[in-house]
Amino acid sequence: MDLGIAGRWAVVCAASKGLGKGCAMALAQEGVNLVINARSQDALEATAQELQTRNPDVDVKAVAGDIGNDSVQEAVLSACPRVDILINNNGGPPPGDFRDWGRDDWLSAVEANMITPIELIKATVDTMAANGFGRVINITSGAVKAPIDILGLSNGARSGLTGFIAGLARQPQLAGNNVTINNLLPGSFDTERLQNNLSLNAQTQNRPIDEIREQRTQSIPARRFGSAEEFGAFCAFLCSTQAAYMTGQNILLDGGSYPGTF
Ligand code: NAP
Repeated sequence: MDLGIAGRWAVVCAASKGLGKGCAMALAQEGVNLVINARSQDALEATAQELQTRNPDVDVKAVAGDIGNDSVQEAVLSACPRVDILINNNGGPPPGDFRDWGRDDWLSAVEANMITPIELIKATVDTMAANGFGRVINITSGAVKAPIDILGLSNGARSGLTGFIAGLARQPQLAGNNVTINNLLPGSFDTERLQNNLSLNAQTQNRPIDEIREQRTQSIPARRFGSAEEFGAFCAFLCSTQAAYMTGQNILLDGGSYPGTF
């Protein structure tokens, strides 16, 4: 299927590894020019090179820095000649017990996983609307739909973003001008972050990592973790011309883990 987005420009935040990189790869494959971001310059440059190899016909620009910083947001946006597609992504807040968190922990989580995407959306959607095309995808978490006890900061901050997006996506000046805004909710995807979590669990439980991994995959109806490639392919479809009638939705990609009917 031709997704109809070749020649468009996309900003993909937090894209040197994992899910963000999966999205950038899939968009490059479709002929979308890219501005990618992450904090570590070396990993980011390596990913830019991989993207360029994947599709030598697209332009790829890399802007290093913490996407939560205003100056980095400005640099990312100004590196992009025209933002047709915005993929909001960031590191997730740390796990823990809410009894141990203070005001600063909450402010950091809300800043990273709610305010940063909102600021980037604010800077781009009205121009998308004026151009008659725009796609915004926010990478959130399955924890928005089924909260995970130890991820209270993530449950809270991402739910704030979700509530805001539900209203914004339905503004006629956006939806009526072919600007769609949707959230992708990952379950368990085989990325560096997941690997680190498995290692930490293996250490704290003093068990082999393979055993922990097997136990986790057996708890998923699909009996496996998702891959960044399949996440990226889904994201690229949501950015397509064909996906124009879907907006304001929360789409769970979790191998069947969420147990509800809806
Ligand atoms: P990952 O494999 O650790 O990759 C994270 C990417 O984000 C890296 O490129 C990292 O590069 C970049 N990054 C992190 N903090 C950043 C910042 N402040 N500014 C700019 N770039 C930043 O993680 P992932 O598994 O792809 O997860 C991506 C998001 O999905 C996270 O918010 C995570 O909580 C959420 N999520 C993931 C899963 C899963 O199963 N993988 C499930 C639910 C939710 P640098 O470190 O160099 O900046």
